[in-house]
Amino acid sequence: MADQKRPHQSDQKDQKDQKKDAFVTEITPRSEDFSRWYLDVVRRAELADYSPVKGCMVIRPYGYAIWEHIQRLLDARFKATGHVNAYFPLFIPEGLLMKEKEHVEGFAPQVAWVTRGGDEELEERLIVRPTSEVMVGTMYAKWIKSWRDLPVLINQWANVVRWEKVTRPFLRTTEFLWQEGHTAHETADEAEAETLKILGIYKDFAETDLAMPVIDGLKSDSEKFAGASRTYSIEALMGDGRALQAGTSHNLGQNFAKAFEIQFQGRDKSLQHVWTTSWGVSTRLIGGVIMTHGDDGGLVLPPHVAPIQVVIVPIPRGNWKDTVLPKAEAIKAELEARGVRVKIDASEENSPGWKFAEYELRGVPLRLEIGPKDLEKSQVFSARRDTREKAAIPFDGLAERVLAVLEDVQRALYLRARAFRDEHTTEVSTWDAFVAAMAGRPGFVIAPWCGSAACEAAIKAETQATLRNIPLASPRVSGQCVKCNGAAGVQAWFAKAY
Ligand SMILES: [Zn+2]
Repeated sequence: MADQKRPHQSDQKDQKDQKKDAFVTEITPRSEDFSRWYLDVVRRAELADYSPVKGCMVIRPYGYAIWEHIQRLLDARFKATGHVNAYFPLFIPEGLLMKEKEHVEGFAPQVAWVTRGGDEELEERLIVRPTSEVMVGTMYAKWIKSWRDLPVLINQWANVVRWEKVTRPFLRTTEFLWQEGHTAHETADEAEAETLKILGIYKDFAETDLAMPVIDGLKSDSEKFAGASRTYSIEALMGDGRALQAGTSHNLGQNFAKAFEIQFQGRDKSLQHVWTTSWGVSTRLIGGVIMTHGDDGGLVLPPHVAPIQVVIVPIPRGNWKDTVLPKAEAIKAELEARGVRVKIDASEENSPGWKFAEYELRGVPLRLEIGPKDLEKSQVFSARRDTREKAAIPFDGLAERVLAVLEDVQRALYLRARAFRDEHTTEVSTWDAFVAAMAGRPGFVIAPWCGSAACEAAIKAETQATLRNIPLASPRVSGQCVKCNGAAGVQAWFAKAY
């Protein structure tokens, strides 16, 4: 598409409009203060707002619409792989939490307690679920009797509460929304296969629909889920060079099965414990999308999860309400018939220039402008959010062209994010190089690691970098650990992280 200058844009801005434009672009530049930029975008794009409850946010309709698309796209993948949805209680009796030792130690510091109901002290305190393994485990012990009952593949869409001291909208809040899958299997191999299958779904979803490249791999023992045998994660790199854990999938072995007596009669009639998994992604993904794609103009949304994929702005000139507006509505109907999410902003309070800036700030992937001159030429004028590329699109074949552009935006965002990650990933083999890489441009550092928790802790203490994961695709190496010079069998990915 040729870059074309639009002739009638600049002459329609009067002073009042310029004041409004200044208001719209009231966002701290990303390069100046990334953290401030993030909060400005969340607030100005009306994704979320602070609430009277400390650490809890209100997800506003525009932000919630993104979550609904995330839910829809993930839920379809879960169902396609045999999972079903159910719902478990918000409250968990104290006694249940205490049954799995590592689990209780991991979660107790973050638990919110309910001690009274109405005006009566409760005999047994309740916790507000921080996650549901213990509740689900209790129920599975009742439901599973025989190998014929397996596997059980249940997911729940729910809210959870973890008492956080420092919070940030979407990334870390006391209450958040997520999905948590809980499955039970006949064999260890099946549980491991399920854990990896879900990790693959998360990776595919993150890359295909969020345009967010991720590294899928195994967590170290010190970073694994409390009570898990093995935790796998997907890790993304944000625009400031810090990593974000974007999803986790846990192989729980028989730890919860033994704590909750989830037993079944096997094919050989013997009584056995099941093998379980759990896995989740949360509203944190919205924070990931903001920080992966956003720029100084505000939000940049991948079309697959954008609440509005195309905004049509009619240019109010001459008898536009009788000519331009009906055509804009016809285009909207044509696009909607092809499954595109379209909004027309024909409001007269704001100038086209104000609207352009506003929908850019909200990350709408494609803007179509149409005025009397465009009508004469049988075309609309288009502007992409990601590249700001502008081009005329003829009425003839418009829907096909728009669909193609949206898919191109989706792909371009992914490629841009992947190039950024590659540019911010450094492979090192010595400790000096590791320290230099961490002190310089932020990003991932790949280094050989001996597997010891002591080395991992020393690396964190000296550089603030945590071991993100050991990628599934990582080659086996025979080198020296970057920290202790001991024998290293794997390459681990390190980064400062959210
Ligand atoms: Zn070491």
